Amino acid sequence: MGELVALLLLVWLLAVAVLGLRHRRLLAQLWAEPVLRRPVLIIESDDWGAGPLAQTEALQKLAALLSTFSDSEGRHPKMTLGVVLAIADTEAMRRADLSVYRRLTLEHECFAELRQSMADGIEKGVFAAQLHGMEHYWPPALMQAANDDESVRQWLLSDALPQTETLPSALQSRWLDGSVLPAQQLDGALISAAVDEELALYKKIFSEPTKVVVPPTFVWNQMVEESWARGGVEVVVTPGQRYESRDENGVPCSVSEPHYNGEQAESGLNYVVRNDYFEPSLGHDPERALQALQRKSNAGRPTLLETHRFNFVGDEKKVDSARQAVDDLLTDALRQYPAIAFLSTVQLAKVLAGRDSDWINESLLVRLRVWLVRQHQDYRLRKFFLLSGFVFIYHLLRWSSAKTSGWAGDES
Ligand SMILES: [Zn+2]
Repeated sequence: MGELVALLLLVWLLAVAVLGLRHRRLLAQLWAEPVLRRPVLIIESDDWGAGPLAQTEALQKLAALLSTFSDSEGRHPKMTLGVVLAIADTEAMRRADLSVYRRLTLEHECFAELRQSMADGIEKGVFAAQLHGMEHYWPPALMQAANDDESVRQWLLSDALPQTETLPSALQSRWLDGSVLPAQQLDGALISAAVDEELALYKKIFSEPTKVVVPPTFVWNQMVEESWARGGVEVVVTPGQRYESRDENGVPCSVSEPHYNGEQAESGLNYVVRNDYFEPSLGHDPERALQALQRKSNAGRPTLLETHRFNFVGDEKKVDSARQAVDDLLTDALRQYPAIAFLSTVQLAKVLAGRDSDWINESLLVRLRVWLVRQHQDYRLRKFFLLSGFVFIYHLLRWSSAKTSGWAGDES
């Protein structure tokens, strides 16, 4: 009998050890990721910049709305603007019969009001600009695709300022050639020159260098990242991993190891993770975003909600209800979490990298609890969490802390 128990115990220990070893990297990451003391919310929005002029009014209205809210220390909610610096100059290309690519940059006088609306929002403390890319595509790939794809050809020849959202998905990636699938990698020297060029133009337009980049469609590679690092970029916004290519169906592939908030990459850059979505025109209501906020805050994580300009430009009814959704989200977030903090992504990255004790909880007990919460929330660890018995410790801690104060890293 005693031998049977010993044998079962041994089998159990072995199973836990095998699973633990398999997930050791992930478990270490969940432990290493800093634990925020209070909920942090950032609305990360992309695709603003060179493109339709209706963006000006959209940004003005968003700035007016955001400036009506403040956290307990008087910071307005930040909407980051992932900025695209150039778009095809379709008029010039029509004249050249599409024989050569021409760009219209955000510096052009037709974008003066748009630039002003961005600058006003930054000045007010409601916008934070970050680089999305020179173009939201790799121009030679677009030119190549126009030979075979009539829709791309028409896009390049259109009368109005075109919208990159309507391009085939694989072509919206900047850091590969999606004109053929599976996509082809770009030459290192071309990448390096293109990064230098876009960093310089960003600096010229915004009067200061960008510290944050958001890779279009989240496809980039080590060469791109090292070029950013050499150019003075400090932070890359990621979806929790890096996609390096697109497969034969155009779907992003070649996935890296998972990233975590505050992780320092080999390149020296810091990663932050966009960990949920808020696209009102796709049906994401404020309730969904609030659930994300609760979940991330319980896990001691910031909540970075991804959104795009397409929610806020175009059909009036759609746009009005998207702004109303932002309004409702911020109203409820402040009501439910009086201690919530509105930071920009660069401020968040600084807090995480500096392990600033005003913001980061280093208490061993809290870190242990949060480590368990993070395991509980991670579907990849489901078997390990159950089999290791951590699930019991999790529920025990949860039960005992529910009787006293807050739970996990959340002190609100
Ligand atoms: Zn984008």
